[in-house]
Amino acid sequence: MVNEEILHIYQTQRKNMDTCPLRQVNYRLEKLRELYQNIVKAQAEICEALRQDLNKSATESYMTEIGMVLSEITYMRKHLKSFAKPKRVRTPLAQFPAKSFRLPCPKGQVLIISPWNYPFMLSIEPLVNAIAAGNCVMLKPSEHSPHVSAVIKKLIKATFTQNEVYTVLGGRESCSFLLDLDFDHIFFTGSTRVGKIVMQKAAEHFTSVTLELGGKSPCIVDETANIKLAAKRIVFGKFLNCGQTCVAPDYLICHSSIKRQLIQEIARQIVLQYSVDPLRNPDYPKMINPKQFNATKDLISHDNVIFGGRYNENTLKIEPTLITANFNSPSMQEEIFGPILPVLTFDNFDELLQVINTYHHPLAFYIFSSNQGRIKKALSYCNFGGGCVNDCIIHLATSAMPFGGLKHSGIGGYHGKVGFETFSHIKSIVDKKTWLDLPLRYQPYTKTKTKLIKTFVK
Ligand code: NAD
Repeated sequence: MVNEEILHIYQTQRKNMDTCPLRQVNYRLEKLRELYQNIVKAQAEICEALRQDLNKSATESYMTEIGMVLSEITYMRKHLKSFAKPKRVRTPLAQFPAKSFRLPCPKGQVLIISPWNYPFMLSIEPLVNAIAAGNCVMLKPSEHSPHVSAVIKKLIKATFTQNEVYTVLGGRESCSFLLDLDFDHIFFTGSTRVGKIVMQKAAEHFTSVTLELGGKSPCIVDETANIKLAAKRIVFGKFLNCGQTCVAPDYLICHSSIKRQLIQEIARQIVLQYSVDPLRNPDYPKMINPKQFNATKDLISHDNVIFGGRYNENTLKIEPTLITANFNSPSMQEEIFGPILPVLTFDNFDELLQVINTYHHPLAFYIFSSNQGRIKKALSYCNFGGGCVNDCIIHLATSAMPFGGLKHSGIGGYHGKVGFETFSHIKSIVDKKTWLDLPLRYQPYTKTKTKLIKTFVK
């Protein structure tokens, strides 16, 4: 899309944003209902696009993309009136007589930039939050998942006017062009590298940002864990979407005494869940493109494979693979965005937590254990975005809790109430009554006034 066209739509949206019907809560509810219905109608088309871009099965597409979006819309529609209402708060005695309240208002015109790995969910969930809060939106899905981006464009066009939501198709250049414009909030999901660019560009206009980034999320399994169940859940969380999940366990670190048993169980689970030949499993997703495929398969070598390790250049599939590693291995230097799971060991739990904390704060943190003391310690001592005890990745599948990272893994959060607030500016208002005007704060000051002020303000 040529930049003049993007600029024209941006300017028209901006000119009309204060009178945009999305300012009305009832209209937002109506639009969310329409969006829900249009997604349900387009389900087959969305699944087909996900199949083409990532070879996702219809079940995985519903479970991790369409269903997640529908349940977020349902949650928002149920709670929106209460979220959007002015909230009365206590007024300090010194301000008597007055009424104080917090008034949520739309930020205005927001930019949403999304990645390719959950291309539908990661575009539409933030959009649902932005619409619920009453904003108009420019949405830029990823150029690497073109089939899904085309369906998103169609869906948005069928549901919203251009002044309400507009989809910009295009790559890095369109994105850079958008980032030079003045938005009232930028919501970015993607790599830490591009997140930094987004934040720098936003600073030019003092624009607030939400950054949903990545990182190396550890998965600890200690010797008290239920090994069979841990293996089953780790295989689900790691190899879903062929490992292209921002909250996938990036590396496994188990107590040295259970390493053999855990690896055996994980290998057994890979076969049970993905068959003996995952490369031929029609429901096993593929790597998004040759660049990601090559970067991931290059982590596999003859020396490090414990299980799996095969790949097919023509289909861009890499089988679920376990490799040996230590903290200095190449696989431990950057986030792995594919189906490779490095296996490390520890002997001293407290030392392990210290080592984990020397890394950038991960987006997610998982611990499999039945030792409550260790669980409590790990959750409070380690810094990370969110996580699970005795499971992985499911903490993001709820509208009742915010989802987000910390420092290098992100800034801010969304989903449910926090998502509504992310896209809102909360005005603090004091409505002062006129039937009484206490003289304390006005000059000339006297000893009595000072004494009274000290009585009320402390
Ligand atoms: P990416 O950062 O390369 O791209 C994200 C978006 O930014 C795309 O829309 C792209 O067009 C745009 N972009 C890319 N380069 C740009 C540039 N130089 N200037 C301006 N815009 C640019 O990320 P990706 O490869 O699409 O996604 C993978 C990354 O996203 C991983 O690091 C993963 O951890 C992270 N991620 C995070 C979450 C989360 O919720 N925290 C979810 C999914 C993915």
